[in-house]
Amino acid sequence: MMDIPAYETDNIFARIIRGEIPNTTVYEDEDVLSFMDLFPQSEGHTLVIPKKAEAVNFLDIDPNILGVLIQRTQIIATAINTALRPDGIRLIQFNGEAAGQTVFHLHFHIIPVWQNANMKPHADSSGNGQADPVTLQKLAERIKACL
Ligand code: AMP
Repeated sequence: MMDIPAYETDNIFARIIRGEIPNTTVYEDEDVLSFMDLFPQSEGHTLVIPKKAEAVNFLDIDPNILGVLIQRTQIIATAINTALRPDGIRLIQFNGEAAGQTVFHLHFHIIPVWQNANMKPHADSSGNGQADPVTLQKLAERIKACL
C-alpha cells in the first residue's frame, strides 16, 4: 500500500505558485496554474496544478478541486491540440516515488505526441534535458493564442 506523505510547502511547485521560482505560464486563474515543463518529454509538454490545494497526489485532493483541475486540463489540452497539431496527446499523472513521481504537489502532464518522434525521458534534469526558455515562451504563446 502506498503511503501518502505529508505535504511539504517548500516543494518546487508550491514555490512556483508563490512566485519564488519563475515559470513559463500557459494559463492561470484563481484555482489553477498551467506552465511549460522545464524538462519536456516532447515539444509542448505542459503541466497543470491546483493553486489552493495542498495535495501531494491524486488520492490526496478534495474532489471538488479535482473537478475544476481536470476541467481546466481539458481546456488546455484542447488548446495544445489546436496550437501544435500533434498526432496524439498523453495525459499522465504519477502517484508516489515508486510510480515515478518526482514533485509532490499534484499535477497533470499534458504531453503532445508526434508519430515517429522520440519521446524524451521523464523528468530528465540530468543536464541535457532542460529546455531553452525562449523556445518554451514561444510554445506557451502559441498555446495561449488558442485558449
Ligand atoms: P512528476 O515526476 O510527475 O512529479 O513530474 C514533475 C515534472 O516537473 C517533471 O516532468 C519535471 O520535468 C518538471 N519540473 C521540475 N522542475 C520544474 C520547474 N522548475 N519548472 C517546470 N517544470 C519542472
